[in-house]
Amino acid sequence: MPGKVWFVGAGPGDPDLITVKGRNVLERAGAILYAGSLVDRAATRYAPFGCEIRDSKEMTLEEITAWLIDRAEHHAHVVRLQTGDPGLYGALIEMTRPLTAAGVAWSVVPGVSSAMASMAAAGETLTLPEVTQTVILTRVAGRTPMPPGEDLEALAAHHCTLCIYLSITLLHEVQRALRAAGWPEDAPMLVVQKASWPGQEKIVRGTLADIKRKCQEEKIGSQAMIVASPTLGAADWPSLVRSKLYDPTFTHRFRKAEHSEVTYD
Ligand code: SAH
Repeated sequence: MPGKVWFVGAGPGDPDLITVKGRNVLERAGAILYAGSLVDRAATRYAPFGCEIRDSKEMTLEEITAWLIDRAEHHAHVVRLQTGDPGLYGALIEMTRPLTAAGVAWSVVPGVSSAMASMAAAGETLTLPEVTQTVILTRVAGRTPMPPGEDLEALAAHHCTLCIYLSITLLHEVQRALRAAGWPEDAPMLVVQKASWPGQEKIVRGTLADIKRKCQEEKIGSQAMIVASPTLGAADWPSLVRSKLYDPTFTHRFRKAEHSEVTYD
């Protein structure tokens, strides 16, 4: 009876940002294959003594799946440790299909994605009442083309929060798309490099007009999240529309309002 392969989200960088469930799985692991290009070896610090730990940085997808299948023959719990959440730009299904074909069971433990960590690092919010209630997680085309209808210009037309992965070297293309979608030159933008990595995080605030220059000045060319959002900077706005959830005139499932007209759930 082969063991099980766990695809565990390591979180964005800080080893404390793994989930309790992810840590529990690591503590039981007989073998761990971590994505060393984006996951620090420190993330494997919860591994038990004697656990086999390997970096997959130089392995092909075929080598990775062959390793996982082989180790599952010897250990009850094998971990594939991935950056952020395994289901976001994580080649998850490319890895699970060969496991299923080989009769190896697998599960996914979600992780804190770098978009959330970047906004948290900057003290920013992804949504804000009556400003935007929508977040788009996307990228611009690199070697991986974008499917029809998903080019950034079309997505940016929603004027909601855009968290743009894998695109820091294509910041000029992000600027072009936002301009084409009608975002003004003074639209606030945020770039966070190595969000949550102890001692290595860089936060750059700018506008559509100057964000590229500021990132060049800070020499940010990899592992960075680009955020364009009408919510950016809200902590310093003179006034704000209140969230209905905490409004004393609204009733919801857990609290009855004094003078209730509308019910929220
Ligand atoms: N599964 C990961 C994303 C992997 S794709 C997640 O959920 O976060 C790799 C991209 O994620 C990078 O190009 C960068 O845009 C972003 N990224 C990963 N870690 C990051 C971090 N600590 N800070 C900022 N961006 C990060």
